[in-house]
Amino acid sequence: TTLLDVRHVSKQYGQDTMALSDVNFSVKEGEFVSIIGPSGAGKSTLLRCINRMIDASSGEINFDGVQVMDLKKAELRKLRTKIGMIFQHYNLVNRLTVIENVLHGRLGYKSTLMGSLGWYTAEEKQQAMQILELLGLTKHIYKRCDQLSGGQKQRVGIARALLQNPKLLLCDEPIASLDPNASKVIMDHLRNISKVMGITVLINLHQVDVALSYSDRIIGVNKGTVIFDGSPQKITSEE
Ligand code: ADP
Ligand code: ADP
Repeated sequence: TTLLDVRHVSKQYGQDTMALSDVNFSVKEGEFVSIIGPSGAGKSTLLRCINRMIDASSGEINFDGVQVMDLKKAELRKLRTKIGMIFQHYNLVNRLTVIENVLHGRLGYKSTLMGSLGWYTAEEKQQAMQILELLGLTKHIYKRCDQLSGGQKQRVGIARALLQNPKLLLCDEPIASLDPNASKVIMDHLRNISKVMGITVLINLHQVDVALSYSDRIIGVNKGTVIFDGSPQKITSEE
């Protein structure tokens, strides 16, 4: 079944930047789909339109039976628990610990500002611990995030998204700041999350080789339009 359907989506910034022009594609439940294309192609804009970090200029985005572009501000929080977002620069709160960062994604920034882990229930903490264990972060849960390596930070970002129990993970260049070893660890985790937990993954990458080896499907974007859409096998056979 289709989880995400993007129809005729365009996004214009200011007077003359058409970041997206009539983009169409859909993603099935459980699929691992990479979006590849050069810098400035519109990949990041596309992901931001899907979770309504920004508003598309026109078109329709249907996610899990909901018309995303019709949602009111107050409804966006619910959308974003179902759509996890992973960022190139992790977007963690550096002065907080790993476990605080993971819980804060679920309960909101204010709750962590109120103070300590005492605010959370035992069940919430246990769930966070389990996810952190899955991501190999058990040793680091009480470290401040600014003491972690890039690869560890990105795993915290993934843990934070997973605690929301999302149906879709949007990953915006998640390995662009990482070395090859850390990149492989992150990509392996994302693939396991997709294949074992059944979470649908839509990931922006500029490394074609990585996209080819991890994806069920690859969507190529250039200058705001889709220029190909198919399996890795199809793309390599067309070259
Ligand atoms: P990619 O993620 O593929 O590198 P982006 O979606 O970041 O591409 O950018 C697509 C185009 O939109 C680029 O020309 C970029 O400069 C422009 N752009 C992105 N964000 C903004 C913004 N907030 N305001 C104006 N232009 C933007
Ligand atoms: P990175 O991918 O390294 O985080 P980006 O190039 O995506 O950096 O840009 C970071 C921020 O600047 C984003 O919020 C993006 O929307 C915005 N941005 C990107 N290009 C432009 C642009 N041409 N004009 C204005 N804002 C932009």
